[in-house]
Amino acid sequence: MNNEIIFLTRAYLPDYQEYIEEIKDLWDSHWITSMGKKHNMLEKALESALNVPYVTVFTNGHNALELLINAMGLTGEVITTPFTFISTTHAIVRNGLTPVFCDIKKDDFTIDPDKIEAVINEKTSAIIGVHVYGNPCDVEKINMIAEKHNLKVIYDAAHAFGEWYNEKNLAEYGDASIFSFHASKVFNSIEGGCAVCKDETINSVLNKLRNFGINDGDVEYVGTNAKMNEFVAAMGICNLRHLDEVICRRRILTKYYEEQLDGIKGIQLKTNLTKEGLRSNCAYLPLIVDDKTIKRDNLYDILNKNGVQALRHFYPLTSQYSCYNCEKNGNTTPVAVWVSKHILLLPLYADLRTEQIDYICKVIREYVNNEERK
Ligand SMILES: *Cc1c(COP(=O)(O)O)cnc(C)c1O
Repeated sequence: MNNEIIFLTRAYLPDYQEYIEEIKDLWDSHWITSMGKKHNMLEKALESALNVPYVTVFTNGHNALELLINAMGLTGEVITTPFTFISTTHAIVRNGLTPVFCDIKKDDFTIDPDKIEAVINEKTSAIIGVHVYGNPCDVEKINMIAEKHNLKVIYDAAHAFGEWYNEKNLAEYGDASIFSFHASKVFNSIEGGCAVCKDETINSVLNKLRNFGINDGDVEYVGTNAKMNEFVAAMGICNLRHLDEVICRRRILTKYYEEQLDGIKGIQLKTNLTKEGLRSNCAYLPLIVDDKTIKRDNLYDILNKNGVQALRHFYPLTSQYSCYNCEKNGNTTPVAVWVSKHILLLPLYADLRTEQIDYICKVIREYVNNEERK
């Protein structure tokens, strides 16, 4: 086992036969893309799974977010956080808008609602929160702030598929959200994604934007091509059938990690199984490594040397990459900077084996014990 790399993630796949059955009729119809039968079936199935009136599927989660921002007609400045995948910031900037970085909370890494109002001004049009690692943003407080200042609220819910929070699907919060169906996510369609919203007009604009802005022979919007094809939609239909068993398996493995890593000096698990009101999807296994001698970067190196693909994620912050380099005027998100330097993700996927977790935890314990003896 020790010479086989344990990857951070492993794409979930349905049985080969199940997928073949699902795509069989594509050979009868030859309709393989452009809002075909599978595409429309998947949208309907997602509306029901996510408990929302409107779902629009796309080639990927990034296009869903970029086009959602476009469809909602945001202007000027958008308040967001830099502790996310680069996609969130890119989607704002590629719409010609300015991202204004607000700090995150140290306990769950989501946008800190107590710091939002300080960065609102007359140019602000929206708040884009990220449900990082499936941790729900402080949706109630964010909603109150948005109402008071007449702002739109969008959630990047790329990590939060299949989660329920205070009796609602996480998709139901805010004006709109996006999900990613990338191979690395809890629910995948190889590549893919969707936007969800409550507003029929936004939904109808999204439907056109993904297809070049075409409407009935006219071209109404400067759209793009972000249509999901039938083979991808078929994969989504198959994988959606197995969502519950995937999350159930992830939950068992998360609990197993928690038992194995309990009480190790310098290592804090940041899983969310016990968060009140949350039905977690167990999307990630985040650790904070914080100690005088136990160092995140050393642990990262040792794990990777021992064939365990741990990941420093999100590091650097999106605001620190060369294309943005927003910190030249001083950093405004000290908590995000700190978390970024101490966060580490461990491998987690539905068919990860408990022996592999034993091995990963043994490498961690040996590193900590060695440091202790020095
Ligand atoms: C994966 C991800 C995206 C982008 O989704 P794609 O489907 O890969 O385009 C956006 N935001 C976050 C936080 C993500 O993790």
